[in-house]
Amino acid sequence: MAKVNYHTHTYRCKHALGTDEEYVLKAIEGGIEELGFSDHCPWPYRSDYVSGMRMSMAQLEDYVSSIRKLKEKYKDRLNILVGLECEYFPEYLSDLKAYIKEYDLDYIILGNHFYKTDENRQYYGRICDDDLFLKRYVDDAISAFDSGLYSYFCHPDLFMRGRKVFDDKAKEATCRICEYAKRNDVALEYNLEGQRNTDRGIPAFYPCIEFWQIAASFDNKVIIGFDAHDPKSLADLKYYDQARATLEGLGLKITDELDRRF
Ligand SMILES: [Zn+2]
Ligand SMILES: [Zn+2]
Repeated sequence: MAKVNYHTHTYRCKHALGTDEEYVLKAIEGGIEELGFSDHCPWPYRSDYVSGMRMSMAQLEDYVSSIRKLKEKYKDRLNILVGLECEYFPEYLSDLKAYIKEYDLDYIILGNHFYKTDENRQYYGRICDDDLFLKRYVDDAISAFDSGLYSYFCHPDLFMRGRKVFDDKAKEATCRICEYAKRNDVALEYNLEGQRNTDRGIPAFYPCIEFWQIAASFDNKVIIGFDAHDPKSLADLKYYDQARATLEGLGLKITDELDRRF
């Protein structure tokens, strides 16, 4: 199995370190054969909201051209793709589709962080203690994949950050996600950044072992995502090796293939 990573951020999201080139160099050092950049996507807000966790629309052009230059420069060492990590915001979906086309992006992945739009600041990593929002979290993910745009589901167990206890409702949400993913051949991401944060004393509550046990019972396809916010993460294989051991121990199939949707 080739070592790949399609979940990589850049400084433009305001909470990641390093230069674009440092991510490429660390990926080479870590033995990654295909590296996809997927920084937090910009949204063309109709309000005057300014997000503190993503690039602005005005930075998109520089992001794409910077990654494409690195793709060319390092083409003999590894393959580079340019994508984005996007929420599912129905109101802005047509804008997203338009700029995917305009910039000829390679892929997008679903980071289901907020309900409807982050302008309302309803962060799923906090509000899923409420059963209604937990249900919406799953509904949004299903709608996102029904759109046919998203290649895989980043940290699908993010809701545990708000839920904290894996109770019957959490189990029900997990079963809905895993059943849908199995039926539609959607890969679920086992997120290394969650584990890294937990170990740094910032409890993420994901990856959540109960979630992955259920995923194993549904025979889901799993992809490992570094979710790198620091170039160093790409060369640090401790979490990658741990993840592989955990997933293989559960009998889960790990894929190294990104489902290209466009
Ligand atoms: Zn991030
Ligand atoms: Zn991410």
